[in-house]
Amino acid sequence: MTSSGFGSLPAIMNIAENLGEALGRGVARGLASGMHGVDGAARRGRPPKSGLMMAPSSDRACSVPGCGREMRSKGMCSAHYQAARRKALARA
Ligand SMILES: [Zn+2]
Repeated sequence: MTSSGFGSLPAIMNIAENLGEALGRGVARGLASGMHGVDGAARRGRPPKSGLMMAPSSDRACSVPGCGREMRSKGMCSAHYQAARRKALARA
């Protein structure tokens, strides 16, 4: 029995320690910036599901004939709006 097997142990411990430290720092940084972002977003943020809250679907349906889905933006449902946007992007 030799102790060669244990030779690499300190190195591994070292790496683990460094990793832990880096992770800890990263988490701390993430938490700090995350809290910042959440705070700012919570104050100003976008209205939560305003479309669903304000729109009776019968009144605000997709303007594409035969679709009948709930309007999301620009008078179209999300699917048709995305399709229209894709078309516009392709044209540009
Ligand atoms: Zn539609």
